[in-house]
Amino acid sequence: MSLVIGSIALDTIANRHGRRERLVGGSTPYFAYAASLFEKPKIIGVIGEDFPGEILREMEEKGMDTRGILRERGKTFFWEGAYSEDFHSRETITTELNVFESFRPTLPEGYQEERNVFLANISPSLQRDVLDQLGKDRFIVMDTMNLWINTARKDLEEVIGRVNGFILNDEEASGITGCRYVMDAAEALKKRGPDFIIIKKGEHGSLLLTNQGFILLPAFPKREVVDPTGAGDSYAGALMGYLQEAGEISPLSLKRAMVYGTIVSSFTLEDFGLERLRRLTRQEVEERRNLYLEMLSL
Ligand code: AMP
Repeated sequence: MSLVIGSIALDTIANRHGRRERLVGGSTPYFAYAASLFEKPKIIGVIGEDFPGEILREMEEKGMDTRGILRERGKTFFWEGAYSEDFHSRETITTELNVFESFRPTLPEGYQEERNVFLANISPSLQRDVLDQLGKDRFIVMDTMNLWINTARKDLEEVIGRVNGFILNDEEASGITGCRYVMDAAEALKKRGPDFIIIKKGEHGSLLLTNQGFILLPAFPKREVVDPTGAGDSYAGALMGYLQEAGEISPLSLKRAMVYGTIVSSFTLEDFGLERLRRLTRQEVEERRNLYLEMLSL
């Protein structure tokens, strides 16, 4: 199973379809709901007293292992974001770390044994705390965001040097490397240590760089976006979930995993927050994947 550490949040989201207050979000729930279409992810994180018990129960029903989620006194991590009319940009209005401020992750019994690990978006020092508790020969993939590029650069660079794969969006890739073009950014990131780099370019698809070269996949074409929050985390969740299910990591399985990431994240956009992922089935994923593969066959 995959192990994931990242933020578990309550999010307030405003965009041209309206405003939703205190929805369950954070990089980990998006990742874990997507991964649970393929496997039973193990979660490490912390929540406060205001986190809805109903969602925690649902996560367990869907097979996610929540033993690594600490329940602390105080408030859950809170994030508020507002999107531009065309969804091309997003402004962070508030970030409140709350229970994450004093959180130090400790892996429960059995968690250290997991081979596939995803360091979802959270402070690089917490990502490193988890890395330090893992044995050798792990398959470790990470994500990050602009806040950490700007405020925790040194820790971030250290974590990048210790992982097998790095999945990030084009804006973050150029923020870290200073490169304007994604191909250059991917090459510059790969030189820092990871075996592969995946750069997500929103509606323009995603790019993979390995020692074997580049692969570029388009996004699944969608007309209506309701809320793009968490699309990147659900891409990563489906990618890691599929790799766990496939049982092998190769340029071909990575490419197939990117297809699942592309498909699952195209569902995330269809409703606010986690809503679409909560009711998504594997059958719907397979149907859309078939359409996508048909679109790609020449
Ligand atoms: P994405 O749309 O993929 O960037 O992910 C959105 C999620 O990231 C939201 O659910 C937020 O709760 C979470 N988030 C926002 N800021 C941070 C942060 N600084 N660290 C960790 N997670 C964050």
